[in-house]
Amino acid sequence: MQPKIPSDTVVEVGGVKIGGGHFAMIAGPCSVESREQIITVARAVQASGAKLLRGGAFKPRTSPYDFQGLKAEGIELLLEAKKATGMPIVSEIMNANDLPLFEEVDVIQVGARNMQNFDLLKELGRTGKAILLKRGLANTLKELLLSAENIMIGGNARIILCERGIRTFETHTRNTLDLSAVPALHELTHLPVVVDPSHATGQARLVEPMALAAAACGADGLMVGRGCFGDPWLFAQLRAALAGEENPARPPLAARIGVAEEQFALAMADKGEHIACLEARKYFSWYLRGVPYSNYYKERISKISSAEEVRRIAAGIRRDLHDAGE
Ligand code: PEP
Ligand code: MN
Repeated sequence: MQPKIPSDTVVEVGGVKIGGGHFAMIAGPCSVESREQIITVARAVQASGAKLLRGGAFKPRTSPYDFQGLKAEGIELLLEAKKATGMPIVSEIMNANDLPLFEEVDVIQVGARNMQNFDLLKELGRTGKAILLKRGLANTLKELLLSAENIMIGGNARIILCERGIRTFETHTRNTLDLSAVPALHELTHLPVVVDPSHATGQARLVEPMALAAAACGADGLMVGRGCFGDPWLFAQLRAALAGEENPARPPLAARIGVAEEQFALAMADKGEHIACLEARKYFSWYLRGVPYSNYYKERISKISSAEEVRRIAAGIRRDLHDAGE
């Protein structure tokens, strides 16, 4: 391997710096599902102070029966979110043939499963794009660095490494987050190292403590992707925790219901009432945590079939809140 060069590489994308003392939070959903999802989340990501928006359009799925991503349409939607917020975007590529679609994507992600797809790496090395290279599920740090060199050999050194957990005998978490990789990589390489606690743990409750631990051991940034739909306030809470500020409370329920209604309106405009109702069934109840009579509402939410019903549910919740003196 090449010897470590003395100063840390700073990767700059759209005015955002990562590495060499610049810490960047990258946030957004694992997969782009719809316009209203990505636009709502993009706003939450921006309001939280995170610097880059991420979203998967091409999804490497273990099961061919799982949702495979919106592909070109997903990239289009991300570009819309980029335009709406001005935030640079990060998205995963699976096949070098798709490179033309990534022209306006600021950071191209190579997922864990493609860390040793050497043809893809070499092709990315011939671009000037910033690359987020994730560590493979069962790869050593040396292999990760050699994969980075497969990119660099083509002339592209704009690489950000990402620790996202490795496979061990432990099955309680999705993977085992190897945080020792962070200081170890800093000894071995000048490249920035970010940590993805979401994919590593697979458990929402573990994301915040592992994010804090990653920052404490010298990560140059974080990538968080969990449950942003229905809980977009997570990002602001995480940012505050990292800054050592008091954790902001979740917004009051009335405000959360307002966001849910706004998402529904966007979905209606985008996809019509039927699809918007199906999405409302899926997502509305997330907003109801802590609501009095939530079981009663959950029952009604599971059967939403019209915009009128959404309006009545929202009005009912507001009335209950009022009656409860909130
Ligand atoms: C992702 O970031 O959405 C992803 C698929 O992660 P990983 O490649 O780390 O599993
Ligand atoms: Mn994912």
